Amino acid sequence: MISIRAISTLVFSITLAACTAEDKNKTIMETRAEVPAEPAGKVVKTDEEWKKLLTAEQYHILRESGTERANGEVYKEFKHQGEGTYHCAGCKALLFSSKEKFDSGCGWPSFYDPAKAENVILKKDVTMGMARTEVVCAKCGGHLGHVFSGEGYKTPTDQRYCINGGGLIYVPAKEQPAK
Ligand SMILES: [Zn+2]
Repeated sequence: MISIRAISTLVFSITLAACTAEDKNKTIMETRAEVPAEPAGKVVKTDEEWKKLLTAEQYHILRESGTERANGEVYKEFKHQGEGTYHCAGCKALLFSSKEKFDSGCGWPSFYDPAKAENVILKKDVTMGMARTEVVCAKCGGHLGHVFSGEGYKTPTDQRYCINGGGLIYVPAKEQPAK
């Protein structure tokens, strides 16, 4: 006869295994209830320190210039997020906000302008056989994505900051505007 304890251990193990598998594939954007404190100055850390601080996905995007999958879970989540601000997952600097967010249909979170221009640096990027402009966090040097200009979007700047949502922290606005 199987004891109750054996059954509960079994159920517990199965639940645990399911959770672990889910966590491994979890790439949804980090979300916080409170606006994090802005870094006072430049944030410099070793690779080991970043690895401890960031999830594997965040580390890959921010520190290894990785690109998340187009039209992935992060993008689906981004499309349904309401008013709020987007901060660097590495150093918490304010980068973008829902005010400049637009639906470009490109498969990655898009903004037509940064929310705080001084926190964003643009760099020439000639990797992958293309001449592109890389978007980097000014405070920690984390890779955010690329910016493209003159594509014909009906936005005030006609720029598309094509950003990896996995490298951002979303903070929903406290008071959602009435619809
Ligand atoms: Zn940063």
